[in-house]
Amino acid sequence: MSLRLIANWKLNGSKEFNQKWISNFFKYFNSHDFSSLGIAPPSMYIDHLRGLLGKNNICLGAQNIDEEDSGARTGEISASMIKDLGCGFTIVGHSERRTLFHESNQAISKKLIQANRYSLVPILCIGESAEEYQDNITHEILHQQILGALKGSIETTSLIIAYEPVWAIGSGQTPTPEEINSVHEMIKDVVQSRFPKIDLASVLYGGSVSITNAASLFEQKNIDGALIGGASLDGKEFASIANVFNKIKVK
Ligand code: PEP
Repeated sequence: MSLRLIANWKLNGSKEFNQKWISNFFKYFNSHDFSSLGIAPPSMYIDHLRGLLGKNNICLGAQNIDEEDSGARTGEISASMIKDLGCGFTIVGHSERRTLFHESNQAISKKLIQANRYSLVPILCIGESAEEYQDNITHEILHQQILGALKGSIETTSLIIAYEPVWAIGSGQTPTPEEINSVHEMIKDVVQSRFPKIDLASVLYGGSVSITNAASLFEQKNIDGALIGGASLDGKEFASIANVFNKIKVK
């Protein structure tokens, strides 16, 4: 199975955190198939985590990459470096990057090209604000974000999209599972019709996913998996969500 459940640890972690997380995760995860799982720790812990995972082949990835390959860009990390560390994916265009670090569609588009160049699966995040949701313009906003990110990136052949309503991230609020399902259907239609060369591997939902709502989300046909922030910081909760996912989606 392709990547379906991604833990986004954001700016959290330490060597001690990593050890505790791994031991809790393996205590509660009840399968030996790790193929759908990914962890995006802070990039400087990728190697440490790889050592702790040993032969347990959970895919590791980055939360962000730079739009350039190398050069005078203090503090940045390139797709080639992430690849060099053995990663399989990178998140691109997370709403926190768009808002806090002013990432434009043009930068996001360049990052997608970099990811593709080094065979990292890009997880492109898109999502509407609370105001846009209330104004009932979610579909238009997402359409614009998809076109903005992908129009310069036709070399991108393999892609995962994460639909993350900005107002749902870390808030405990979510759209209804049915609403999310219909948004995901629209995303699949737009990508397939506008970018037929792109292989859209899956559309994940992100925003306050927890063990409480996981089953109701995964029961929806077009919700292929989840990008999980807060709840992924606890190895036990991430394992429990993965167990629910396996029960519903892996036949
Ligand atoms: C995220 O930031 O990608 C996210 C989904 O966060 P949370 O699960 O905490 O809402």
